[in-house]
Amino acid sequence: MVGDVPVGGLAPISVQSMTTTKTADVDGTLAQLYALRGAGADIVRVTCNDVDAAQGLAEIVPRSPVPIIADIHYQYRLALAALEAGVAGLRLNPGNIRKEAHIKAVAKAAADAGVSIRVGVNAGSLDKDLLEEYGAAVPEALVRSAEHEIAYLEDVGFHDIKISVKHSTVPLMVESYRLLAERVEYPLHLGVTEAGPPPGGLIKSVAGIATLLLEGIGDTIRFSLTADPVEEAKAGRQLLEYLGFRERSGLDLIACPSCGRAEVDVIKVAEEAARALEAERLPIQVAIMGCIVNGPGEAREADIGIAAGRGKGHLFIKGRVVRVVPEEAMVDALVEEARRLVAEGVEARLAAADAAAEDLAHEERVELIGLQGDANRAAERRAAVADVASGEAE
Ligand code: SF4
Repeated sequence: MVGDVPVGGLAPISVQSMTTTKTADVDGTLAQLYALRGAGADIVRVTCNDVDAAQGLAEIVPRSPVPIIADIHYQYRLALAALEAGVAGLRLNPGNIRKEAHIKAVAKAAADAGVSIRVGVNAGSLDKDLLEEYGAAVPEALVRSAEHEIAYLEDVGFHDIKISVKHSTVPLMVESYRLLAERVEYPLHLGVTEAGPPPGGLIKSVAGIATLLLEGIGDTIRFSLTADPVEEAKAGRQLLEYLGFRERSGLDLIACPSCGRAEVDVIKVAEEAARALEAERLPIQVAIMGCIVNGPGEAREADIGIAAGRGKGHLFIKGRVVRVVPEEAMVDALVEEARRLVAEGVEARLAAADAAAEDLAHEERVELIGLQGDANRAAERRAAVADVASGEAE
């Protein structure tokens, strides 16, 4: 347990993040903690890098909306101070807290306080003896560093442990965790360390974390982005929802990539809709499709969507067109219908559909196919092209 959040076993995979404020700034840190909670973080780590920070924790912990983990480097006494401040977890870096007696003292105090410890190995701060032995922060070295630390904790009967072996290179990160998962039974905290700013940082994090989660490895995750931590909490939560590990808590916006058939600027409409709908926090899947020819059919799995016609927007629910609105009212109509859909349910909104909408959409689809051709009859057209090319059409 990290406070009231279970980690490991059959517990839902949790999302972690870390504050970027000075911990001594109690109000600033609390504001960020609330923002992180709102963005989907289940657990948040806060640095405890000096006495002022430890004292800040004493005020932050009782007012925090999420369990707090104190991040400790070098000074084991700050771990003891953080425990005194009431944190729900500690993160120790075996690369820089190396004395057996210090680690055991922290483990004993954590056991007394009922607090869990993450053994947080990091390729960038690997134990220097192991670095010398292996010549580089290879997976075996990271795992051995974790095992070394775990042995100290187990020596004093401490087992409330989770482990991370983070690397900034995705294949090495994946290999390190695979190796670790073969060797230990403890819950694992996944992350690509120092992933960098988005979009590269997001891609690296998703590549490493999703690969492992889909192999059944990992219990809690953190995206380490060079960005507002709210972005990492949001991304972590979204990843878990997209992979089906957590229930949808907010909007899932799907949109076609647009093509020459598009009757509107799909990118602009999708951005406008995302902005308007995200503020609503509606737990539904919404589709923005560039044309009525293929849109409602391709997005029939979405709860609600809108497809562009010629100067119009065709609003559909579960693939059925329920209303036709002027193009400039597309986004407003979509948001309004999405709200009503969540409040009243699919059946009620389908029953309230404009009876003429399906026919209007059909007419427009036929008209556009007449102008542009039917994208779904490509095979027929390819055969006709081949006939013309070979002269058989004459
Ligand atoms: S829905 Fe229409 S505009 Fe969007 S990609 Fe498909 S065919 Fe193109």
